[in-house]
Amino acid sequence: MHDLSLTEMAAALVATETSSHHAKALWRALLREGELDLAARDFLPPLRRWVLDHVGEGKAFFLDAPEVVSEIHSSDGLTRKFLLKQRDGQATETVLMGYDGRHTACVSTQAGCAMGCVFCATGQMGFVRHLRPGEIVAQVLHAKRVLAATQPGRRLRNLVLMGMGEPLHNYDSVIQALDIISNVRGIGIGPSHIAISTVGVVPGILRLAKEGQPYRLAVSLHGSNEEERSALVPASKKWSLAELIAACREYGAITGKRIFFEWTLIAGKNDSPETAQRLAALLSGIDSHVNLIPLNPTQGFSGTAAAESSGREFQRILLAAGFPCTVRQRRGIDVAAGCGQLKAEKVRAASRT
Ligand code: SAH
Ligand code: SF4
Repeated sequence: MHDLSLTEMAAALVATETSSHHAKALWRALLREGELDLAARDFLPPLRRWVLDHVGEGKAFFLDAPEVVSEIHSSDGLTRKFLLKQRDGQATETVLMGYDGRHTACVSTQAGCAMGCVFCATGQMGFVRHLRPGEIVAQVLHAKRVLAATQPGRRLRNLVLMGMGEPLHNYDSVIQALDIISNVRGIGIGPSHIAISTVGVVPGILRLAKEGQPYRLAVSLHGSNEEERSALVPASKKWSLAELIAACREYGAITGKRIFFEWTLIAGKNDSPETAQRLAALLSGIDSHVNLIPLNPTQGFSGTAAAESSGREFQRILLAAGFPCTVRQRRGIDVAAGCGQLKAEKVRAASRT
């Protein structure tokens, strides 16, 4: 039921001979309050009857309430990572982070990923399936519930689509989910507090711009020329770096918005001063913010994280060229925070037993 927009919910009620007026109460319970037991709610009698008749296993509607398969916390207690089991048994990851009083959820958009980035645990798994909008929404509700239970009174303000999967490979479901998540009657996270991170699916980037989607865009770049990038990101054989940068320029021109570029720093692969200079030249004229991410080691990739000194030099060159540039803290490394790593660990543990 978390797939349904307010209009679709009203239509579903009408189709089953119940007044559409109840849609708001139902949406409020489901999304604002994250209710998982609708039958226990004190709804008006017609809505109560509708819930009893239509919601539940074997009935027309069901709730997405993923089961927690495992949960780990960082030693500072500020990052919590969950492996959640969907209805068909597929496990996906959701993270709740809380730093400087700001709480952010990081959710998955697919089980696995087809893009095959060599350093990424999800890419190493391959693609399994797209997540439905309801499965994306339910992850945010899970994070909200955990926040309410662990730090009462704190609001979940930010959302990043940086968990497992490539959001723009699952475009329609992602946008449908974000419509519900950002709606003030829904979960109510402001669109400017929501970031879509993409490996560079060019048609998706242009579509976001042309549709005027209000969310932030992050592009995972990792390489400053075709050769450097395609060694890490196989998807760049489909959408070349040149095409991707052209799409980013067009996105900037249409939307007037800043683009966040993600860069996983890998020793000897993409951390040299020459690479930083090429990157600065590549981004010239694009309103950009570069976010450097130290590599989290994964089982299927022999590369290592760049030395702190090369990271600092890389950052210095970009700053000198006029680009805001931050180095992301390795905040969750002790909770296997790299995307897909918790699931990969579970699979390895299971295969050992
Ligand atoms: N598919 C999207 C969003 C999910 S990945 C994308 O690629 O942007 C989110 C971010 O995590 C990306 O920037 C990705 O490059 C980064 N990432 C994945 N595996 C990593 C690892 N092992 N170490 C550091 N960053 C990683
Ligand atoms: Fe997919 Fe993103 Fe991982 Fe690349 S980094 S394999 S696009 S999830």
